[in-house]
Amino acid sequence: MAVLTLIEPGDELSLQALSLARDLGEPLHAFVIGDASGLGAYGVKTVHVADDERLAAYAPAAWAACLEQLIDRIQPSAVVAAGTNRGNEVLAHLAARRDLPFAANCIAVGSDGTFTRVRWGGSLLEEARIHSDLKLLTVAPHMVEATTVNGAEAAVERFQPDLDDAEFVVKVVEHAETPSAGVSLAEAKVVVSGGRGVGSADGFGMLEELAGLLNAAVGCSRVVTMAGWRPHTDQVGQTGTKVAPDLYIACGISGATQHIAGCKGAKKILAINSDAEAPILASADYAVIGDLAEVVPAITAELRKARSS
Ligand SMILES: Cc1cc2nc3c(=O)[nH]c(=O)nc-3n(C[C@H](O)[C@H](O)[C@H](O)COP(=O)(O)OP(=O)(O)OC[C@H]3O[C@@H](n4cnc5c(N)ncnc54)[C@H](O)[C@@H]3O)c2cc1C
Repeated sequence: MAVLTLIEPGDELSLQALSLARDLGEPLHAFVIGDASGLGAYGVKTVHVADDERLAAYAPAAWAACLEQLIDRIQPSAVVAAGTNRGNEVLAHLAARRDLPFAANCIAVGSDGTFTRVRWGGSLLEEARIHSDLKLLTVAPHMVEATTVNGAEAAVERFQPDLDDAEFVVKVVEHAETPSAGVSLAEAKVVVSGGRGVGSADGFGMLEELAGLLNAAVGCSRVVTMAGWRPHTDQVGQTGTKVAPDLYIACGISGATQHIAGCKGAKKILAINSDAEAPILASADYAVIGDLAEVVPAITAELRKARSS
């Protein structure tokens, strides 16, 4: 049976969701807000584009209403989205509208129809069964590889959704640039992240300097955002951004499960911590045990030396 997916253009996590959606059935349909090109390579047969310019701004109830109208047309067996804040919110709206169960953060579907879900910030895997004919689920970020198939370009079908103003009561009205514009945290190949051990907002100066040399983004733990040292947009973790860089440098971060939930997609983790027993060492590929106020400037100095020679 058909499967319907919610796709945000240019979003790698939506492409990861498509890989899992292919395991659920065919043909694969996509509801796309914005640029709909290139999805055939990911197995999408039909792309549905809504003709309503109000949808260009994120409006969860309106996006869910569009999915609901497509469900009536396509009669899919499942609706899949990326397990992002938006994907989870839109599917929660859809579940409420249809009075259906919804499984967030799935990573695999078994041959017996069970779904494996990531729970408790990544410390638990759950085997779940969705008790409804129409399955609603999101795919946990960075847990499923976005793979392509030899698909032809998808057909594009435009439709006129039936949306009243009430669907737009909640919508994005403005985008504010983050103060640390540059490499985005979610897409950076290297992330230099700081925790309580950094000591103060000013202490992040040395992390910024190292990040600048590595073309890296600066991240942080929740303790740091709660203290007001960095904006919430820099927070990595269960209630922050999920990152998957080649290298994650955790400076003065203990490694709470809620933090690891956000960085376990990293290919390599380097921990810099004064405590040789810190939990982060269990997740780290490399560790330097020492005071980050000495270690971080020493790495920066060595990098500068290596580059000038
Ligand atoms: C519902 C919920 C959601 C949460 N979501 C998130 C989330 O999204 N992201 C997140 O990060 N946390 C989250 N948390 C909080 C999480 O549980 C931890 O409290 C937090 O991650 C700890 O931050 P930290 O590692 O910076 O601080 P601490 O746990 O206090 O660790 C500080 C570390 O710094 C080291 N250190 C101290 N001084 C130095 C020094 N000079 N040099 C080197 N190392 C030093 C210490 O040895 C220690 O390991 C959440 C909690 C809850 C309950």
